[in-house]
Amino acid sequence: MSLEEERLNKLLSFGLEEKLARTAARNEKVYTSTLEALQMANIVNDGSQQTKNKGLLVYNAVIHSKLPLANRSLLFHMIGDERIKTKAQLDAAIEFLVSVGEKKVEENVLEQEAGVGVVVTEKDITETVKTVLDENRCQVETKGNRTNVGLLVKQVLSRLRFADARLVRSELERQLEDMLKNLSLSDKVEEKPKTTRTNKRSESNKDEEESADPFAGIPNIMEARDLETAKNPPELLEKQRLNTGGKVVCRFPPEPNGFLHIGHAKSMFLNFGFAQKENGICILRYDDTNPESEKEVFIKSIEESVRWLGYEPAKITFTSDYFDQLYDLAVELIKRDKAYVCHLKPDEISQYREKKRDSPWRNRPIEESLRLFEDMKFGKFEEGTATLRMKIDMQHPNPCMQDPIAYRIRYKRHPHSGDKWCIYPSYDFAHCIVDSLEWITHSLCTLEFEIRRDSYYWLLAALDLYRPFVWEFSRLVVTHTVVSKRKLTFLVDNGYVRGWDDPRMPTLMGLRRRGFPSEALRKFCASVGVTRGDNLIGFHKLENACRTCLDPKVFRRMCVLEPLKVIIENLPEDHAEWLQVPNHPKDESKGTHMSPFTKEIYIDKSDFRLEDEKDFFGLAPGKTVMLRYAYPITAKDIKRSAQDPSQIDHIVASYDPEKSQKPKGVLHWVASTKFSTCVEVRLYNDLFLSEQPGLLKGDAWLKDINPESEVVKKNALLEYDAAKNVQPEDVYQFERLGFFCCDKDSILPTKIVFNRTVTLKGVR
Ligand code: ATP
Ligand code: MG
Repeated sequence: MSLEEERLNKLLSFGLEEKLARTAARNEKVYTSTLEALQMANIVNDGSQQTKNKGLLVYNAVIHSKLPLANRSLLFHMIGDERIKTKAQLDAAIEFLVSVGEKKVEENVLEQEAGVGVVVTEKDITETVKTVLDENRCQVETKGNRTNVGLLVKQVLSRLRFADARLVRSELERQLEDMLKNLSLSDKVEEKPKTTRTNKRSESNKDEEESADPFAGIPNIMEARDLETAKNPPELLEKQRLNTGGKVVCRFPPEPNGFLHIGHAKSMFLNFGFAQKENGICILRYDDTNPESEKEVFIKSIEESVRWLGYEPAKITFTSDYFDQLYDLAVELIKRDKAYVCHLKPDEISQYREKKRDSPWRNRPIEESLRLFEDMKFGKFEEGTATLRMKIDMQHPNPCMQDPIAYRIRYKRHPHSGDKWCIYPSYDFAHCIVDSLEWITHSLCTLEFEIRRDSYYWLLAALDLYRPFVWEFSRLVVTHTVVSKRKLTFLVDNGYVRGWDDPRMPTLMGLRRRGFPSEALRKFCASVGVTRGDNLIGFHKLENACRTCLDPKVFRRMCVLEPLKVIIENLPEDHAEWLQVPNHPKDESKGTHMSPFTKEIYIDKSDFRLEDEKDFFGLAPGKTVMLRYAYPITAKDIKRSAQDPSQIDHIVASYDPEKSQKPKGVLHWVASTKFSTCVEVRLYNDLFLSEQPGLLKGDAWLKDINPESEVVKKNALLEYDAAKNVQPEDVYQFERLGFFCCDKDSILPTKIVFNRTVTLKGVR
């Protein structure tokens, strides 16, 4: 027997798996350490799986290059008596031992580090896997079967440190499969009950009501009063009840410094939707405290977008409506010694905050601040030389509590209050007070405001004002687009898009122009729900919501994007057979329209190939295809252009009046130009190539713009019937191509432009 075989037998006698034993036996050093370790672990070979597992753990520890000598026997002992049972426990133990080096550790300390006694149940695994999958839903939707399971396992294990990785993996694979199945189901365009054709305004909110309660995340008011200052004294609560009749009052507070976008749709859905659900009201409030960037055009467009989305504000207010009251309250705050006029410049304020130093003006007499604040109001100071600051706490760990600014000087005409004021309240000062004055019950805002919650309540408590319930939710981020107002403005100003309402823009005006019905946006928001977790949602979800809404409603027509002429040889010259074609193949009640079949017809260039292929259902020499709603045709000959013989001028085909054949391929087509109209069709794709262009550094986001985000087909041909009465915003399904919406660039009746709203199926 060779030395190696002797070693092998020795190791096998401890129950070590053969493969491991062979590897260990080959190297003397590894053999000696393994043997020693197996002896320390006191392993008795009973042939069981447990013993094999112990051997494996021992071996893994032995070959760990950094395991210090001290504490080894304790470690192997714990493997031997099964206190350390899993790879995860072993890894944790080794990590700890490496970190302490050659220092002796207490048994109970190592036990704790290795999670001895920590029980991870199957239920724990199932639930954590579910949470992780939910959080990664967007990735799963985009990547489908290519989702990186390993990374997800890692995420689960980081939360369930001592879970068995194999169990986690198999549970993950199981749930992932279910999720993918459900996704592919929900991605299909559902067949919906029939309604009449409309694309202008939705009639009902039924679809949202049918889905699970999207507002379930909003906690009960009574549960969330964690701050002492947030508690309302009973008399204020009573006053609020009398003023609101006990109703829920929400507000949607856009700053009129840009157009509303898809993110705002979520905020509106939440504020208006929650109020609606609770039989309350929602106010549209322009948060117009900064005359610098606010404009009348934004004010108008915001109101229009709110209504378009299907919401009717109970009232429309402006923060500037309250400028007088806000000023009086600022004076009151000074009188209560809770505000002071400060002359530090903006960068000095930051430096003082960094050092947690009081402003030198912090303790000036109340009378002085009152006088100076009035001087500010009368324009006696230059911009930037005086501010009013709340006297909160410069030592506070939350920077928003370090004497935030209440008023600034701005010599700028305000779009609403004109030249009346040259001092303007800050967001921190105005927002909470106006919420309070409007008796808002639920002040819902995005998470970046969470840090301002302390000062929100501090100020209301300092002025003994009623305190609304503040709750923050996550900002919605949709893939393949950006919503930063700065970036959107850049795209518009630099001609990357056709304007704020370009159909590629994530603005509500853009989505509307592209043909998305507002109902689809509400449906989409309902499916997103209210969360405080990351809210990255695939754009294709919005597209799916759109298909689901449009499919049952809109009429079908045929349009050929790149026309290829086909001459039907067995038809007389001026033949025109009027075919009766359904407006909606799945809904008879939508009636029919007449479509002529002529000697000259057009099919799409992409539906013809010189050489037929297995998966190609279009026309090819000698091949027969079906013209939708008409007859089978067979390609007989190809006529090349006289000017450029590399180009096909037209195809000569014969048609089968008996319809004796049933070819697989069915093509859309249009009749001769006498009966069809030339239209411009703009095909829209994702504006950005990557999922989150907003995260790209520097100007990389601009390089990420999809060069095919807009593809224009100038010479498409549309059935005459559709072209005849079309109006901007009308939507059709062009058979086999997708949903298309008539664009406002159309000059009727001579120039007709259609935007592709969405393809029939997701291509991503
Ligand atoms: P700015 O970029 O100028 O700070 P903003 O995006 O916060 O503006 P506002 O007009 O102040 O826009 O927003 C009005 C409301 O819409 C606010 O309550 C804001 O929290 C919410 N909101 C804005 N963007 C999103 C988003 N992406 N997802 C959800 N809500 C949003
Ligand atoms: Mg804002």
